[in-house]
Parts: sequence; structure tokens; C-alpha cells
Amino acid sequence: MSDASNLLRLQEVDLQLMRLRKTLSAMPQQEKLRAIALAKKKLASQLKQIVGQRKDAETDIADNEADHAKIVGLTAEVRSQVNDRIQGYRQIQDLETQLTALAKRQEKLEYTRLEMEERLERLQKAERNARELGQKLLEEEQAQTESFEQSTSDLQAQVHVLEQERAQLVNALPVEVVKAYDGAVKRFGGLAVESLSSNVPSTCRVKLQPAIFQKLQKGPRITECPYCHRMLVVLEVGA
Ligand SMILES: [Zn+2]
Repeated sequence: MSDASNLLRLQEVDLQLMRLRKTLSAMPQQEKLRAIALAKKKLASQLKQIVGQRKDAETDIADNEADHAKIVGLTAEVRSQVNDRIQGYRQIQDLETQLTALAKRQEKLEYTRLEMEERLERLQKAERNARELGQKLLEEEQAQTESFEQSTSDLQAQVHVLEQERAQLVNALPVEVVKAYDGAVKRFGGLAVESLSSNVPSTCRVKLQPAIFQKLQKGPRITECPYCHRMLVVLEVGA
């Protein structure tokens, strides 16, 4: 294989690789995987918020329980003072007033406790739902990844074969030709090399003047297009 045909083949291989990589990233599974990643991120921040609220609700209930136990204890104490009967009428009345106030506080705590338990239950349910959704997202992610790998195994194999061929071509070509090609690929977005089999280069399609055409046919087979400055492979030499 000549340098000229190796260079033309290198461009073909690179264009095929570009198309394959584009196809792979546009696969529907890739789109779904991107959506799943977004949903997971959103869910994680929601779950963090829910767990924080659930822990607060548990602390509120524990505080309520402690207050309730204190009131029950105080009530028992006051009641035993009433039962002592050593107190005078006025003190008894005072103790009764205290008992009424304590009973009201106890009732209020018990009512609040019911509300707190309902809130905790709601938060626990929300947390369960969020964790279930997280599990579903993980399963969906795995399924999409597997489906992507299965349905693209042919394409992936093609990429692998082309990459190997590319390495061989680069290895076989002179270093300065590869360097010039890499630079031209960047400048011309992949279409770096054109060929000349008549007096019209294959990519820019600008008809060459007879004098230039004749000169090109005598010169090196790998040269540069005088118009667009792509690399130019002259296919038919001599006349
Ligand atoms: Zn050209």
C-alpha cells in the first residue's frame, strides 16, 4: 500500500468512526440514561429534605412525651398533697386550681401529640415512596445500560476494528504526513484530504488550470490543493 492510498484510507476510517460515535451517542438509551441521571439527582435532594423533616418530627414527639411525663408526675404530686388533708381550705382550693391547669396542659399535649403523629406518618410514607422511586430508577438505569450494550454490540465491534486499522495506517505513514493530516482535520472538520483523478479535486470541485494540472501530475502524489489547501492525493500520474 502506497502512502497516498494509506492516507485516503485513513480519512475514510476517521469519517466512519465519526459517524459511528455520533450514532452511538444518539441512541435512545443514551437519552433515557441522561433523563434518569437528572431524576436521580432531583430525588436525592427531595429525599434529603424529607429525612430531615422526619427526624424533626421524631424529636418533636420525644419532647412532647417528656413534657407529658413531667405533667403526669406533677399531677400525681399535687393530688397526693390534696389527699394529705393537712392543708387548709384555701390551700386545697389552690391545689385544685393547679390540678385544673395541669389537666389542661396535659390535654393540650395529648392533642398536639396526635397531630405530630399524623405528620410523622405522612413523612414516613413520603420517605418510603421516595426510596421506592429511587430503587425503580436504579433498575431502569441498569436495564437501559444493558439494552444499550446489547443493541450496539455490532457498532462497538465496528469501532474496535476501525480503531485497530487506524493505528496500523498511522504507523505505516510517514510522521510528517500524519502531522499534516491531523492539522488539516482540525481546520477542515474531518474532510482534510481530497483526491485528483481528473482536473477537478474531489472535495472543493474547483477546476484546475491546465498548467497547474500538468505540474501536479509531475509532482509528488501527496501534495496540497492550490485552491482550498486541503491535502491532495494525485491519483493518475503522468500522461
Ligand atoms: Zn481543493
